[in-house]
Amino acid sequence: MAEQFDLIVIGGGSGGLAAAQRAAEYGTRVAVIESAALGGTCVNVGCVPKKLVYNAASLAHLMHDARDYGFDVTVKGQDWAGFKAKRDAYIQRLNGIYAANLARRNITHVVGRARFKDPHTVVVDGRRLSAPHLIIATGGRPQWPDLPGSELGLVSDDFFALEERPRRVALVGAGYIAVELAGALRALGSEVTLLARHARVLRHLDESLQEGVLEAMAADGVNFVGNAVPARLERVADGLRLSTEDGRHHGPFDALFWVIGRVPETADLGLDAAGVQTDKAGFITTDAWQVTTVPHIYALGDVTGRAALTPVAIAAGRRLSDRVFGGMKDRCLDYSNIPTVIFSHPPIGTCGLSEREAREKFGDEVKVYSSTFVPLWNGMTTHKPKMRMKLVTAGAAQRVVGCHIMGPGADEMLQGFAVAIRMGATKRDFDDTVAIHPTAAEELVTLR
Ligand code: FAD
Ligand code: NDP
Repeated sequence: MAEQFDLIVIGGGSGGLAAAQRAAEYGTRVAVIESAALGGTCVNVGCVPKKLVYNAASLAHLMHDARDYGFDVTVKGQDWAGFKAKRDAYIQRLNGIYAANLARRNITHVVGRARFKDPHTVVVDGRRLSAPHLIIATGGRPQWPDLPGSELGLVSDDFFALEERPRRVALVGAGYIAVELAGALRALGSEVTLLARHARVLRHLDESLQEGVLEAMAADGVNFVGNAVPARLERVADGLRLSTEDGRHHGPFDALFWVIGRVPETADLGLDAAGVQTDKAGFITTDAWQVTTVPHIYALGDVTGRAALTPVAIAAGRRLSDRVFGGMKDRCLDYSNIPTVIFSHPPIGTCGLSEREAREKFGDEVKVYSSTFVPLWNGMTTHKPKMRMKLVTAGAAQRVVGCHIMGPGADEMLQGFAVAIRMGATKRDFDDTVAIHPTAAEELVTLR
């Protein structure tokens, strides 16, 4: 006999836990199945440990600035191993808090790997669980390219296990993780080479931000190699050497990370037994209500391949449970205007359409306001990261359809502006808002 629940959630990461807890608040009997540590990618090998590394790197930058503000600061380096031990302990505490949160809501926590037996039943180490509703929130995992020697390289999960900071590091990729790790490792003292297939990084962002990142990385001493299509990785006498398709050789490196996007965690789920379909890349397809090709099986978060961000998985999970168990029949996640931050040095905050996307959508009705300046903080410092700001507006009313910020504080600045954009704010609304002086953010309400 299978154990009966009202809802089975496969995956105890950001999205799965959010959906499970919200459902339990409505009195639903829930089981969460998780094969690894509770909290998923974000807590264990993603946002949280990454942000702590980012904070350490930001401190390294601030200590340089401190000298320019008259402090007698001597930095003898960072104790990576000690920092890692504290970081790991913090994450372990979070794992415990997540387990306690489940227990408090009477959610059954099943440890192990789930596999569908039929559309209502999953099996975990021989244990059978059944429910009228099931959520797949199994996330994704890093990937290695199919190249000779690629197994010599590491992926982002390995980064968080490093007991020592590698001195000479290569990052192959051009997305969030490549840019974030490049900036952090460089600030902490590594020699960093970022190798991208094209001439730019973060190509989905507004061009001003793409330019800004390359400029900031160059100023910080990151060696950017563009148009570098990886062909082979090999061990040579003094480290790893990467060859690219154009015949160039790069390295030697002490560590090379493949940061080339993530693949969905669906391979061993037994989706066929449930009748759940995926797209060609293995991502589970859903409608706007997170419903898969099977009406009582839902999917959310990274496994669906849409906006792979923690708050997106959480929002989708909570809304789904509100709808299915809380009686809010129209509740679903609107995937437009999702704000996102890239924790580069300095950080990037972006929401809505890039200038190019807006012009494709609205043609000549687009008007753009932008500014590049050195913030007051850096008026005093030798290191002068630039602040870039851009508002993209559309239509006669000049509705703000894109907001792009790069510079110190951009990460904390964006959230409030994202609310305004979501509410349909116009350029006039921005102009009519009194500035806060002296801040960098005030520029966004004084752009002309
Ligand atoms: P996950 O959090 O990946 O959870 C899925 C869970 O399912 C995992 O715990 C896995 O063990 C479990 N699982 C898988 N298959 C099974 C199975 N068959 N049975 C049982 N359990 C299973 N996002 C941000 O918003 N901000 C950031 O700063 C940020 N930084 C990131 C940094 C890095 C290095 C990475 C890799 C990602 C980062 N992300 C960030 C993305 C964020 O981590 C993900 O979008 C988020 O974790 C997705 O949540 P999820 O619930 O879909 O999946
Ligand atoms: P991304 O999707 O951000 O970027 C990967 C990039 O690598 C691609 O866009 C592509 O860029 C390049 N690439 C792909 N295949 C290859 C290849 N074979 N060889 C060389 N380069 C290749 O993936 P990440 O792994 O950086 O991050 C995964 C996701 O996790 C992100 O998309 C994001 O959703 C999330 N994340 C969020 C963070 C945050 O919120 N701050 C931080 C970290 C991750 P191109 O086409 O230009 O070559």
